[in-house]
Amino acid sequence: MGSTKINSFKLIPTGHWPAYDLKITLKPCFKCNHNCWFCDEYDNTTRVWTRDQCDQVLCKLSELPTDKAKLFFYFYGGEPTLSREWEYLQYKLVEMFPERELYIQTQTNLSLNSDRLERFLININKLKKRKHVVDICSSYHLNKQHVDDFISKLHICKQYGSLGLCFFSTELPVREQCISEFNKLTSQFSDKIKLRFTETANLVEKNLPGYREYLDDAYLVGDDKGKSLEYRYWLREKPEWRQYFEPGWNFNVDGEVYNFSEVSGKNIHMKFKYMKCECGSKNIVIDHNLRVYHCNDDFYNKINITKLSDLDMNTYLRKDVRCLIPRAMMVWIFINIDESVCLHIDTQSPGIVPACYF
Ligand code: SF4
Repeated sequence: MGSTKINSFKLIPTGHWPAYDLKITLKPCFKCNHNCWFCDEYDNTTRVWTRDQCDQVLCKLSELPTDKAKLFFYFYGGEPTLSREWEYLQYKLVEMFPERELYIQTQTNLSLNSDRLERFLININKLKKRKHVVDICSSYHLNKQHVDDFISKLHICKQYGSLGLCFFSTELPVREQCISEFNKLTSQFSDKIKLRFTETANLVEKNLPGYREYLDDAYLVGDDKGKSLEYRYWLREKPEWRQYFEPGWNFNVDGEVYNFSEVSGKNIHMKFKYMKCECGSKNIVIDHNLRVYHCNDDFYNKINITKLSDLDMNTYLRKDVRCLIPRAMMVWIFINIDESVCLHIDTQSPGIVPACYF
């Protein structure tokens, strides 16, 4: 971008995301079994929801205002399938809301075993109504499971009509493997595989093995201390990989189109000072500690955190908010000034789709 001043920043509407009146992010488990080296969005010392806690959440959800006809339930973590109640919660949701449009998406590293995955998909398909969509959105991380096992689970999801997008996290330290497994995945699911360029804040100072050889290249290091080095490397090496950007995350920035990856890679999101946000009326997060907030960034910045037991569904969604979180603390923020939309995306989990999508 030539100028540093941005006058207009808008998400370009597509049909890739469901329309909804309310998005409810559920975090039954904040643990993760993958322990990806670049991620800190999990805590393996935390507790997982018990059946009783699940029932408390469901009871509270039963109080959702009736004008919220289109509900987007987003299972998130850590790794939500580490909760043995992951299936139970979804069975109950489709039973509780037979008349409402539900989009139930799980963001998962797909480490659950194939039998469990298939059993769940068979059961939920028996229980859910036609207006209920169950979507398995996965992230693929190198050396966490064999690529062939992962692919066979994608096929199971496809067989039962629940195959969502799959986010592939690049890892330059294992370059050849990265290319080989990416090609393997795209050869079978070309329209579902989307790229996530792993980002590392202050990479130049971290002396990480596998990256040292790239730090003499001024273009790759960039002016962000190497944070988006992978983005610059892969697009220079493989410009054709742009086709694996996620089209649902294209932005109009002063009349030019930028994908989510480019916005982050070029730090465009750091240029905003103020934003209005719909999370106050369209978003609820219920976390592993039964704490409630409007977006993940509220939690990290300790803003307006409520206990589930104190939550009043009739007043909690009353109004939009002006987001007061300092930009420097929100590493990936996308805003739509003109339409009061604020998009927060997790930076520490490159394989993970947006934590909040308002
Ligand atoms: S990136 Fe995803 S799979 Fe990896 S540790 Fe973080 S939450 Fe787990």
